[in-house]
Amino acid sequence: MTPIDLRSDTVTRPTAAMRAAMAAAPVGDDVYGEDPTVRALEERLAAELGFEAGLFVPSGTQSNLIALLCHCARGDEYLVGMEAHTYKYEGGGAAVLGSIQPQPIAHAPDGTLPLDALQRAVKPDDPHFARTRLLALENTWHGRVLPQRYVQEATDWARSRGLACHLDGARLFNAAIASGVPARTLATPFDSVSVCLSKGLGAPVGSVLLGSAALMGQGRRWRKMLGGGMRQSGVLAAAALHALDHHVARLADDHARAARLADALSGIEGLQLLGCHTNMVFVDVPVARQAALAAHLAGDGIRVSIGYLPTVRLVTHLDIDDAAIARSVDSLARFFAN
Ligand SMILES: *Cc1c(COP(=O)(O)O)cnc(C)c1O
Repeated sequence: MTPIDLRSDTVTRPTAAMRAAMAAAPVGDDVYGEDPTVRALEERLAAELGFEAGLFVPSGTQSNLIALLCHCARGDEYLVGMEAHTYKYEGGGAAVLGSIQPQPIAHAPDGTLPLDALQRAVKPDDPHFARTRLLALENTWHGRVLPQRYVQEATDWARSRGLACHLDGARLFNAAIASGVPARTLATPFDSVSVCLSKGLGAPVGSVLLGSAALMGQGRRWRKMLGGGMRQSGVLAAAALHALDHHVARLADDHARAARLADALSGIEGLQLLGCHTNMVFVDVPVARQAALAAHLAGDGIRVSIGYLPTVRLVTHLDIDDAAIARSVDSLARFFAN
């Protein structure tokens, strides 16, 4: 029985072709700036997304942290969604390591941070307050593509208040493929953008942070300090370049499979479908039933994200094919029939 892992799109394993590209990569010491494959990746993404420079880093968490450290100093604050990755799912790194205070803002249901709430959160120049420096958005947010008109309005507003703008674009290419808006258009309103290669794109490791040459110069210093300066990391960058060549357009397949999964689940009595956005399906399962559900699915070789919330998330990716969708629907239907 082939295991089916719907917990996250981070679980993909490199394909044979990707491994071959990794094995063939020319490499050097990237801390000296001498790895040609890392440089090719940084330059390619910078050019494609409309920035001067890029910085290849081990993880999306480090990429976002470096961006926050570049934009904000000790005693500064950033405006961020209450359910945003950079606020909630990164161990409080900005506060722990940067002495940067988050100012969380409640999301509207579409993932946007309402402009009036942002407006109210900006602090006056007064010793009582942290200095508001940055607006951080996320696209996709829990699978949702932010409306581009909102992104433009929010970043225009931020600029008018003297704030810099950062985008956690861990799944930027999912947003581009789902909306039909070029990734570059989604990225250019921001001063910095972080893109994950290890999510739906299917590379084993890595994110790239993009921004001006000056900002990335600062970022390189923070990356070294945080322990993210890697040596012959071209083997990893080669996987990322392979992913950019071969795994971007196919994100549409993940989105289509998620939509089909959601459609099938909506017909199962007792299961409450909450929504389907890009490659993520959300269902509501009472916390009291979740352990039983996890055990049932495990018996069928299926894993899903079951946590401390009633929402269960199912994520499609490179290693989920049509048969995996059919088996998952069948298993969930049998559970809810009882
Ligand atoms: C996964 C993810 C990150 C961070 O990625 P890691 O590589 O796991 O550190 C950042 N933001 C979002 C929205 C993510 O989904």
